Amino acid sequence: MNHDDLNHWSKRAADWATAYHAGLRDRPVRPDVTPGAVAAQLPAAAPEHAEPMETIFADFEAIVPGATTHWQHPRFFAYFPANASPASMLAEQLANAMAGQGMLWQTAPAATEIEGVMVVWLRDAMGLPSAMTGTIHDSATTATLSAVLTMRETALAFRSNVTGLSVQPRLRLYASEQTHSSVDKAVRIAGIGQDNLVKVALDSRFAMDPAALDAAIRADLDAGHLPCGVVLCVGGTSIGASDPIAACIAVAKSHELPVHVDAAWAGSAMICPEFRPLWQGIEGADSIVFNPHKWLGAQFDCAVQFLADPTAQLRTLTIKPDYLLTTGGPVTDYSDWTVPLGRRFRALKLWFTLRAYGLDGLRNRIRNHVEWAGELADVIAELPGLEITTPPALSLFTFAARDDAATQSLLERINADGRIYLTQTRHLGRYVIRVQVGQFDCTRDDVMMVAEVVRELSA
Ligand SMILES: *Cc1c(COP(=O)(O)O)cnc(C)c1O
Repeated sequence: MNHDDLNHWSKRAADWATAYHAGLRDRPVRPDVTPGAVAAQLPAAAPEHAEPMETIFADFEAIVPGATTHWQHPRFFAYFPANASPASMLAEQLANAMAGQGMLWQTAPAATEIEGVMVVWLRDAMGLPSAMTGTIHDSATTATLSAVLTMRETALAFRSNVTGLSVQPRLRLYASEQTHSSVDKAVRIAGIGQDNLVKVALDSRFAMDPAALDAAIRADLDAGHLPCGVVLCVGGTSIGASDPIAACIAVAKSHELPVHVDAAWAGSAMICPEFRPLWQGIEGADSIVFNPHKWLGAQFDCAVQFLADPTAQLRTLTIKPDYLLTTGGPVTDYSDWTVPLGRRFRALKLWFTLRAYGLDGLRNRIRNHVEWAGELADVIAELPGLEITTPPALSLFTFAARDDAATQSLLERINADGRIYLTQTRHLGRYVIRVQVGQFDCTRDDVMMVAEVVRELSA
């Protein structure tokens, strides 16, 4: 395989991709495959001798698509979307062709500068303060970890990076029960410890109760602990719950604590001004993460973190051995902002996506998804034996049958059927089915097919 062959096979791959996308509606969203079936088709060891690309490509076609869960299927309503717009796919292809590594400005001037501009474009499109800067991570998990590490270092006057945590006071971090498990993972990795992640009580809308936050911080201060920060959520993963951002930030600020907001899914909707009341007060946040790879169409992986002031995060994460020093004036080295040293050129797919659809094209999609989710919830609410258990939060709602066993068996029948794909969560102890509308190419008909399938299979 050389670059001439690559030219030929790239065209084959492009043709394959076109046919794949055109045929997606005819495939089940989730494959009917048993664990181990794919591995069993591969030889036990790597080939000693080169194989022809013809054989490799044929094996790909025979083994992979039929054992793939199709995230770009227009009737994927599970989890949250991982949208890949065609423009984003093209950008990834170009980034892959250059295959650069953007740890420093010097190793990737274009990637670094386009990243800076994309953060500004998105910040302004989402109505965030013009003083905010930011960076692009692989995932919301890494962005939240970076924020939590920064909270830890700030609380300990930047000593713990050097001394470790063994002689430090007990750090405490606050988040709601609806917050994503990536926050739990961050406190574990950061050495703060799961026991020191305080899950603050919720109000009747499953949002953090600011008075309970204040009480939790005060109780920890009385006990001699060291509060280090608050993580709030906008559009939680389970049912789409959002914390009252303004009120919780006011409490955090009264204790001089930094605030990180996880809006991994719902953040994309903030390009529509009418949804911004959901995070009213956001301008007071120190750090915000959202995933353009979820709802905006810049494919996985792409998580944007906005920072009111990057100084503390840079002080936490920057490490500059001699072999990484560069000369030639002040530049931004984004590896100082993030956990890994090496970085992919993720900004290119944002640049292509934002230009190819325009903010109005992206807003249109999100508005349609929210509207269709509302219509769908209304139809499901009328089906016998079913009830809406949480109303639409943007485009996410849940429903259930009369008891857990009936709900679970309905979900299994739905997913065995293959026309749509839904997943479950537990809410107030009850097993419920989640529906989120957000696939980039889905139509109203695709969404309404959920009602059809559920009606048929729940009868
Ligand atoms: C998806 C999601 C995450 C995790 O995202 P990754 O980018 O996969 O790490 C975190 N928080 C919320 C609210 C999410 O929806």
